[in-house]
Amino acid sequence: MYCRHVTETTPLITSPEPTVEGFVREYLRELNFSQGTILERATTNDQYLALARTVRHYLMSRWMQTTVSQYRSQAKAVAYLSAEYLLGRQLDNALIATGLEEVAAEALASLGLDLDELREVEVEPGLGNGGLGRLAACFVDSLATMSVPAIGYGIRYEYGIFRQRFDDGRQVEEPDNWLDNGAPWEFAHPEHEVAVGFGGRTETYTDDDGRERTRWLPGWQVLGVPYNYMVPGYRNGRVNTLRLWSARATHAFDLKIFNYGDYAEAVRSQTFAENISKVLYPEDSTPQGKELRLQQQYFFVACSIRDFIDQLLPPGFDLHDLPDRVVFQLNDTHPVIAVPELMRILVDERGFEWDDAWQVTQRCFAYTCHTLLPEALEVWPVELVGRLLPRHLEIVYRINDEFLAQVRERSGGDELLVRRMSIIAEHPERSVRMAYLATVGGSKVNGVAELHSQLLRDKVLADFAAFWPEKFTNVTNGVTPRRFVKLANPGLSGLITEAIGDGWVTDLDRLRELEPLADDAEFRRRFREVKAANKDRLVSFLAARDGIAIDPATMLDVMVKRLHEYKRQLLKLLHVVTLYDRITSGDLAAADVTPRTVVFGAKAAPGYVMAKEIIALINHVGAVVNAHPDVSRVLRVAFPANYNVTVAETLVPAADLSEQISLAGKEASGTGNMKFALNGALTIGTDDGANVEIRRLVGDENFFLFGLTEPEASAVAEAGYRPASYYEENVSLRRALDLIARGTFSGGDGSVFERVVSNLLSEDRFMVLADYQAYLDAQERVERAYADPDAWSRSAVLNVARSGFFSSDRSMRDYLDRVWHAAPLTAG
Ligand SMILES: *Cc1c(COP(=O)(O)O)cnc(C)c1O
Repeated sequence: MYCRHVTETTPLITSPEPTVEGFVREYLRELNFSQGTILERATTNDQYLALARTVRHYLMSRWMQTTVSQYRSQAKAVAYLSAEYLLGRQLDNALIATGLEEVAAEALASLGLDLDELREVEVEPGLGNGGLGRLAACFVDSLATMSVPAIGYGIRYEYGIFRQRFDDGRQVEEPDNWLDNGAPWEFAHPEHEVAVGFGGRTETYTDDDGRERTRWLPGWQVLGVPYNYMVPGYRNGRVNTLRLWSARATHAFDLKIFNYGDYAEAVRSQTFAENISKVLYPEDSTPQGKELRLQQQYFFVACSIRDFIDQLLPPGFDLHDLPDRVVFQLNDTHPVIAVPELMRILVDERGFEWDDAWQVTQRCFAYTCHTLLPEALEVWPVELVGRLLPRHLEIVYRINDEFLAQVRERSGGDELLVRRMSIIAEHPERSVRMAYLATVGGSKVNGVAELHSQLLRDKVLADFAAFWPEKFTNVTNGVTPRRFVKLANPGLSGLITEAIGDGWVTDLDRLRELEPLADDAEFRRRFREVKAANKDRLVSFLAARDGIAIDPATMLDVMVKRLHEYKRQLLKLLHVVTLYDRITSGDLAAADVTPRTVVFGAKAAPGYVMAKEIIALINHVGAVVNAHPDVSRVLRVAFPANYNVTVAETLVPAADLSEQISLAGKEASGTGNMKFALNGALTIGTDDGANVEIRRLVGDENFFLFGLTEPEASAVAEAGYRPASYYEENVSLRRALDLIARGTFSGGDGSVFERVVSNLLSEDRFMVLADYQAYLDAQERVERAYADPDAWSRSAVLNVARSGFFSSDRSMRDYLDRVWHAAPLTAG
C-alpha cells in the first residue's frame, strides 16, 4: 500500500553526494550491475540507460521524501487530469533540476564518454499532440518548482504521437515506439492496479436501510496499472509525481476463457483490453468520436480518481471533505467524464444523498477550455455513452434535468435558452456536450489568454457566463523557463545570469532587470553573438538530423506548430511564393531582398486531408525555391520532418522571426509564441490569443502586428466573405495563386494542388486571402527593421526582458489565486 503507516522512522536511503568520483562509481555500478555490461562492450544505448539510472539516484530520496511528506501533511493537492503530456527528453531536465550537468559531464569524460552524445540517445516521450500536451508538462514542472502538492494523471500510451517522415514531400506516419530501447524514467506499480468497468447495465435495489439505490453492473473490465514518473522541482529538493495509466486485461477475464481451453481467444481478449492505452489519437480538425477514445478517457479518469481516494487519503477519510483535499483540474474536455464518475462513486458506492454528492463534486472540479472552434468542442453520441457507460449516462441526464430546471426557473421559462444550454444536444444526433458538462460540473471555467477568455464569455459559452458570471475567469498560459530558456538556450542563460544573477530561473519577472541593457551596445553585441552561436548549433543539428543545409548568415524566419488551416501556414507560404514570383519575374532584384531561411515544422493529423495537402505544397514550393539559382541565393525553405520538443529546443533559440499568424479569434493562446519571445525572436503576428498580451508587454515598436482583428473578421464573415474578390483585385496575390494553380511547383501539373487553391478561392474559412496584403506589408517592415542589426537586437533584448510574465510559474500562481483558492494550498 502507498504511504500507509509511514512513520517518522521510515528508513530512507539518502542520495549519493554529487561529486565526480561518486558519480563515476554510481555510473559504473549501474553499467555493471543493472545494465549487465562493461564499459568496453557497452553500446551507446547501454551507456545512456546507465546514465539515466545514475542521475535518477540523485532524485530518488527527494522523491520518496516528497511523497511521504505530502501524505503526512494531507495538504490540499492539485490533481491535474490531462489526456496528454508532451514531456520532451527527461535526462536533460533531470540534469538541470539537480544541477548535476557539470559533474556528469566530467565524470563521463573521465571514462571517455561524451554527455552530449548520450543525451541524443533518448527518444522523447511524445505523449501529446502539441500545445495542450506541452502545457500540461510545463504546469507539472512549475508546480514541483513552486513546491505545490500536486500529482499529474494521464495515459501511458505505448505509442505516442506518430513519427513523421516525408515521401516526395508528402507526410508519411510511422509508429512511435518510444519504449523499445528501455524506459529508465518510469516505475511500474502493478500492486496499485485499479479495475475499471465498461458496458453492462444498471439496476435499482433497496439497501439495508430501505433506501432506493442504483448500482452499475459492468459487462467487462480492464485493469489500470500505474507508472510513476519523477517531476523534479528546480533545485528545491522536491520531486512530484506524474502517474500514467497503462491498460491490462483482468486476470479473472482471461481465466474464465482459459478454462474453456481457448488459448487463442484468451490472448485476443487480452489484446482487446490492452488496446485502450495503445496509441495516442492524433488530434484532427474535428474530434472523431471514436469509441476507443471515449474508453481511454474514462479509463484514465476512473483510475485516477480511485487512486487519489484510495492511495492519497488516509483510511476512513470522510469524502464530504474531499474539496478540502483536492481539486481535479480538467485539461480540456478529455477528462470530463470524471464529473459523473465522482458522482457515481459518492452516490452509488458511498451512499451519499444526491445533493450532497453534487456539492462535493462541483467544488472538486475546475475546467480549462482550450478552443474557440465550435467544431472542436467534444460531443459524444448518447448511444455510445449509454452502451459504454450506462450509469454515467443516467447521472448526466439527472445533472442536466436539475440544471435545466434551474435555468427554467431563473429565465422565467425561456425554452429556447433551455434548449441552448442543455448538456444534451439533439442535432445532428443526440449527444453529450462535454464542454457544457464541465461548465456545469465544476466550480470554475477558465480560458487560456485574455482574448480567449473574453470570447468564451461573449460567444462560445455566453449563456453560461450570463448565468454564472463569477464562474468564469482567465489564466493566460505560460511555458517553463527551465526547459525553454535555461536548458534550450545555455548561451542566453549565461548572459542573463552574468547580468542579473540566476534568480530569474524561478522568478522570471526578474528579466525586467535586463531592460536597461537593451541600450548597452556591448550587451547587444554579446546578445548577437549568442544568437549567432545558436544558429550555428542549429546548422549542425539540421545537417546531422535531416541532411538539410541552412545558411546561418540569413534571417531565420520560423513557423513551427501543428498543421491546421486556422494557424495559416498557407499565409506564410504565399509570402514565399510571392518572393519567388517577384525575383523570377525580375520585379525584385535578388540583391534587394533580405536573405532569409524560412523554417517550417508541423505534423498534420493523419485523417486531416487538407492539412496533409498543405504539407506537400510547402515541401514542393521549397524544392523549387531551393533549386532556383537566383532565388535560392536569398530565399530558402527548410522543413525538417517530425517537429517535436527536442526540435523546438534547438530551433527556438536560433530564430530571428517568430510567425504567429492565425486568423484573429481562432488561436486560444499559443505557447510557441511565448517561447520565441523569451528567446529573443521578434514576432510577426495577428491580434490573436496570447499575441495580444505579448505585444502589450513588449511594446508595439518591438512587434510586427498585422491583419484583421477579431471583431473585423467576424464582421467580414457576417457580411459574406468572398475570397475570390481579393484574388481579382490583388495582382500579386493572383500571380502567386496562379503559379501554384499552373503547376509551377508540381512539375507542370496544375491538378496536384488544385484542392488547396480552389478551397482558398471558394471558401477560405480562415481568411488567408483577406490578410495577404497586410501580411506582405508587415514583412516589408520586418525587412527594414532587420536591416539595422543593432536596432533589431535592441528590440530582441526588450522582448526577452519583458516576457517574464509568460512563465508557467506565473500561470500556476494565477490558478492558485483564481481557480484553486477554495482553501489555499500550503507549500511543503
Ligand atoms: C510549444 C509547442 C507547441 C505549441 O506551439 P503553438 O505555436 O503554440 O501552437 C507544439 N508543439 C511543440 C513540440 C511545442 O514545443
